[in-house]
Amino acid sequence: MAEQYDLIIIGGGPAGLTAGIYASRRNLKTLILTKDIGGQASSASWVENYPGFDKVNGYELMQKFQKQAEKFACQFKYEEIVKIEKTNNHFQIKTAHNNEYLSLAIILAFGKTPSNLQVPGEKEFTGKGVAYCATCDGPLFKNKIVAVVGGGNSALESADYLAKIAQKVFLIHRREEFRGEAILIERIKSDPNIELKLNKIVTEIKGDKFVKGMVIEDVKTKAQEELKLDGIFIEIGHTVDATPIKELVKLNENNEIIIDEQCQTSLAGVLAAGDVTNIKFKQIVISAAEGAKAALTAYKYIQDIKGVKGAIFDWGKK
Ligand code: NAP
Repeated sequence: MAEQYDLIIIGGGPAGLTAGIYASRRNLKTLILTKDIGGQASSASWVENYPGFDKVNGYELMQKFQKQAEKFACQFKYEEIVKIEKTNNHFQIKTAHNNEYLSLAIILAFGKTPSNLQVPGEKEFTGKGVAYCATCDGPLFKNKIVAVVGGGNSALESADYLAKIAQKVFLIHRREEFRGEAILIERIKSDPNIELKLNKIVTEIKGDKFVKGMVIEDVKTKAQEELKLDGIFIEIGHTVDATPIKELVKLNENNEIIIDEQCQTSLAGVLAAGDVTNIKFKQIVISAAEGAKAALTAYKYIQDIKGVKGAIFDWGKK
């Protein structure tokens, strides 16, 4: 028989874990269904903008979130969602492990997945020198020559981290200007171990059993250059994999879930929080706060369904 919960949170990143803390503290029987802990935040080598922490490793920060949720009896299962359906007052969630779970409300907080460059060689050499997470795979490239592709905060942070491990880092960006934080841009530009390749796109990734290099092309002159490399880190943003929820809730043109200020989606009982939503800023602290909001809204919804009168879900409001 399907296990029954008050609230099921899908995704174990900053939004999902914070929702888990808030919901469990309200005594909701809460399950977090997730593929991993921390999501994108776990792959940050250093987080320097989460209040209260001067500098903390992303993985360690996310472990702290999880421990805090567990302290309040939030449960975890590591499974991938394949389908969510609404049946009367319940949501039925089916997973890739062929398990079924029931809940009164759900919070969608499964974040985004790394985008692909979609150039020849990328698929072939993924896991053979092509990587999407500098913190996870960076240590394999000690004293080697690597390239980072991208111009946002993720690419800048990865280049900064890899420059301390690798012999040399090329940072390849398709424009002149980066879109990351000023402090990171300054750090990258002043690091003698990082060579910038601006206005360049990657046209091919080459190798035999393992990556050997890449071909880059100048966007203006079309001149091509081949770089000899041991590793390539692709950090060109993230997209929402909306497959399990596209029939359930309304999405915007980027496949992000459209929410209101209380994290409500187009379907009653389905809340959403964090990078998977249309909220503008993708930051750990913002995702955490959105997760808290979603849990409080879910609490109110569940109390109403259970017919509990006078439940306080916000300061002074009944
Ligand atoms: P992002 O900000 O969307 O940046 C993606 C970068 O990849 C852009 O520079 C983009 O170029 C480039 N790009 C996209 N498609 C490309 C392609 N096909 N070929 C070559 N280059 C391509 O993504 P992100 O860096 O992963 O960051 C995602 C979000 O998380 C952002 O909101 C970011 O601020 C946030 N984040 C914050 C921190 C932090 O606060 N420390 C750390 C990591 C991430 P263009 O610039 O030309 O579009």
